[in-house]
Amino acid sequence: MTTFPASPIPTATSYRAPLLSIVVPVFNEAEVVDVFLARLEPALEKACAALGPGGRSEIVFVDDGSVDGTAERIAERIRPGAGVRLVKLSRNFGKDAALAAGLAHARGDAIVPMDADLQDPPELLERMVTAWRDGAKVVNAVRSDRLSDSWFKRTSARLFYGLFNRLSTYPLAPDVGDFRLLDRSAVAVVNQMPERIRFMKGLFSWIGFKQLTIGYVRTPRAGGESKWRPWSLWNFALDGITGSTTLPLRIWTYAGATIAVGALVYAGVVVVRTLVTGIDVPGYASLLTVVLTLGALNLLALGTIGEYVGRIAVEVRARPLYVIEAVIESEAPPAVVESGTLRDDAPACTG
Ligand code: UDP
Ligand code: MG
Repeated sequence: MTTFPASPIPTATSYRAPLLSIVVPVFNEAEVVDVFLARLEPALEKACAALGPGGRSEIVFVDDGSVDGTAERIAERIRPGAGVRLVKLSRNFGKDAALAAGLAHARGDAIVPMDADLQDPPELLERMVTAWRDGAKVVNAVRSDRLSDSWFKRTSARLFYGLFNRLSTYPLAPDVGDFRLLDRSAVAVVNQMPERIRFMKGLFSWIGFKQLTIGYVRTPRAGGESKWRPWSLWNFALDGITGSTTLPLRIWTYAGATIAVGALVYAGVVVVRTLVTGIDVPGYASLLTVVLTLGALNLLALGTIGEYVGRIAVEVRARPLYVIEAVIESEAPPAVVESGTLRDDAPACTG
């Protein structure tokens, strides 16, 4: 008698419904919280549908030490099934730290950091999710038009991206802000990065992965005002460059070597000329020029070293990136779909 191996018994497959996390750092945005949620919610519903069967969403707000009642406004929106959570920091730590806190608390399979001022249009989420479903690990949103930004911000941004991409080994896509979709695996890498001074755009570019780009038009803020001042933009640019390349430090080796060769040649000329034509006393102007130029170059080099040493000091202290005062939530556990059917207790698309 011939026996056949028993056919494998089909077992219930476990499928976790995909979750989309929206991470929103907020600092004094009480004015726009409601407008933001009103526009985000319908867009999130469409994005959830694009996620796949049982697609769900959560919104993780990070209150970065607001003093205008932003946290209270958000807390009002936290209800069972609303999919809203609030991570409250103990003071203002800056947008990059707030974003890091949000990324650490997001539970999604795909995670999108967004500004609360509606400068990042929520309607783009659906296209981002579709690109993610098609295999992209990072979907960058590029501002195809920055006319809503001031002339100063546009020009300084252009100069910065130009300089950064010349100096750094991994380029930044110009006009990509923090608004992008990140796969869980990409966020896991960013969460592991230990640096205190976090230039998020640089980190997102450094991680690699299959990155895709979609364009959008950046509109003016829905309300309130930008937190950026020229001085903070300058420091942000320095953080970006020092955090991504050591070229400004190393360049002084070559500048020094070139000047030393020039100085040696010139010294030879002066010695020979003195031997041939005798002592030449005039030369105050050239002497002063050389002394001042070299002095200035010395200080510039010292300043550059200082920029790095200061940042090394911050890294060595290794303080926490942010301090969490409270996490406020009212959430059902992640939904589990068994054999392709959504369990009854799992909320469908929330947001
Ligand atoms: N933000 C923050 N902490 C800060 C500054 C800003 O969390 O110290 C948030 C802010 O509430 C907003 C986002 O970061 O949601 C972007 O800020 P802003 O609109 O001022 O920047 P811009 O769009 O002008 O680059
Ligand atoms: Mg803004």
